[in-house]
Amino acid sequence: MGTERTDSPECDAPSEQWREYQGSPTGTALECEGWRQEAALRMLNNNLDPAVAEKPEELVVYGGTGRAARSWDAYDAILAELRTLADDETLLVQSGKPVGRFPTHERAPRVLIANSNLVGRWDTWEHFHELEAEGKIMYGQMTAGSWAYIGTQGIIQGTFETLAELARQHYDGDLSGRIVATAGLGGMGGAQPLAVTMNRGVCIAAEVDEERIDRRIETGYCMETVDDVDEAIERAEEAATAEEPYSVGVHANAADFHEHLLERGFVPDVVTDQTSAHDALEGYYPSGYTVEEADRLREQEPERYTEESFETMERHVDAILELQERGAVAFEYGNNIRGQVEEYRDRSGADARSWPVSGTDPEDRESFDFPGFVPAYIRPQFCRGKGPFRWVALSGDPEDIHRTDDAVLELFPEKEHLRRWIELAREQVQFQGLPSRVCWLGYSAGEASEAPREGGGEAADGEGDGEGDEGKGDDELTERARFALRINELVAAGEIAAPIVVTRDHLDAGSVASPNRETEAMRDGTDAVADWPILNALLTCAAGADIVSVHDGGGVGIGNAIHANNHVVLDGSDLAAEKARAVFTADPGTGVIRHADAGYEDALEEARRSNVAVPMVDRREGRE
Ligand code: NAD
Repeated sequence: MGTERTDSPECDAPSEQWREYQGSPTGTALECEGWRQEAALRMLNNNLDPAVAEKPEELVVYGGTGRAARSWDAYDAILAELRTLADDETLLVQSGKPVGRFPTHERAPRVLIANSNLVGRWDTWEHFHELEAEGKIMYGQMTAGSWAYIGTQGIIQGTFETLAELARQHYDGDLSGRIVATAGLGGMGGAQPLAVTMNRGVCIAAEVDEERIDRRIETGYCMETVDDVDEAIERAEEAATAEEPYSVGVHANAADFHEHLLERGFVPDVVTDQTSAHDALEGYYPSGYTVEEADRLREQEPERYTEESFETMERHVDAILELQERGAVAFEYGNNIRGQVEEYRDRSGADARSWPVSGTDPEDRESFDFPGFVPAYIRPQFCRGKGPFRWVALSGDPEDIHRTDDAVLELFPEKEHLRRWIELAREQVQFQGLPSRVCWLGYSAGEASEAPREGGGEAADGEGDGEGDEGKGDDELTERARFALRINELVAAGEIAAPIVVTRDHLDAGSVASPNRETEAMRDGTDAVADWPILNALLTCAAGADIVSVHDGGGVGIGNAIHANNHVVLDGSDLAAEKARAVFTADPGTGVIRHADAGYEDALEEARRSNVAVPMVDRREGRE
């Protein structure tokens, strides 16, 4: 290629504006022409809040090199566009750079984002890195480039739910007396120790970067740290025997850590990891180096770094397999480490195993012999359109989130699990940046219509203001729509100081194609079909979301996933209610239809119960 670097984040010093903001603006005074544009400006700055992002001075938000903007110049340009963007215009952001602005209409999104997407045959890390080095593309991860990241607090409920489901399947419902051995205490992985202790278990987490461990301790996600693996095991065993929740970060490379457990003959109850293995060059650390030494090696000899990174990953996966063989419950936590090792073995022709896997011919052991967390623990929720729904208080006032906590509990009094989650979150999860909350909500219109109703109201009505209309509409409302409409009412009534923006993770029921993660082992073999997230993005756009984004590669790396996200700004207006009603029906609905189409009985049942149209199934079952 050979043209000069233009928009690379390494080319320029951090923006003066970013230095002045140090996070999102708060309060009710607007810099932009309306709340929808203001929400985009605040969410972008919130992503880059030093209390939220992992390396904000490099525009890196989380997940290896997931960035919020392509360069500091592009960041400044996005802010300038957002400040003058009218209520009937749409800004286009391509891989972190503003590239166009068009007249549209009030109901249309204010911002459309596409990050990291490449055409199939070129959709590789290699080609991506070439373009990235020339400043022509950006890795958006999932919520980094779509301005929806809310810090480690955003993933905590997903991690809590996954472990709760694991505990239900293997240990009678909680993790008391159980030890979880994991690795990676970065932006997302940092949620692991707290999610384990919230489930009453014990967590040992290996992390190469001491600063990351300290950060998790400072923010209440991890209890303490030690340098010595044996000491960590002893403390963990003591806590497990006493059935006390406990977490410890240990300063070690994950592969060395897991191998040490084997050498010592210690088998944890659960083994997993959240190192950034999806990116061998910029996410994962090879064994044998300090962080500083490894960072220098990456800079000076990137090929050698990548090779050693893969070698370490291979040892890491083999050790997990051996721990599984010796009785641990093992699962991959969404970082594509199995896929990386499989590809590496295919490329290098390596078949030697670093650990003699007990009782099995090493030739028969493949990296995919332990499951991913989605098929193991999450898919039944996806079938019902359920996923990590999040909301953020644009006022910056924690009281606004506390009011929404009350609202969600008032609205769904029958959900005991939800009450437990909200109570634990209030007590144990510190806000980072703009106060936010995450809570798994889904479709379940049928279930909701049987439950006691407290929602509805004027703002919730949107267009349908006629008498009797409210009840009729509510019967068809999803959990997500009911809750969003309730928040909109609270904003309209002045009970919440400023608008709330609702968004979610890209990891959601109908918005991802990711064969090594969200769509691993789909019943009908459609793991790699990416029409679904694209339809999801188009549909939420048509339904009136305020920001819509489509990315490649989040979580599992370039070429391994396509996924979409959206934001809706609840400013108390009728228009916001109308948008919320449509988007929060369409969005979880795509999860139901995607899984119904693949033949999952839970999804088919949800579709029947909640009247979600699935044309081909309806024809077959005589409901045309
Ligand atoms: P991050 O880059 O912020 O953190 C990764 C951490 O792993 C860093 O602190 C790094 O120092 C550490 N690390 C890297 N290699 C290591 C090694 N060999 N041994 C020990 N520590 C090592 O990333 P993140 O946002 O925490 O995400 C971690 C991974 O999990 C990514 O691959 C991401 O895509 C995936 N992820 C999963 C989910 C999920 O829901 N399961 C959600 C988001 C991200």
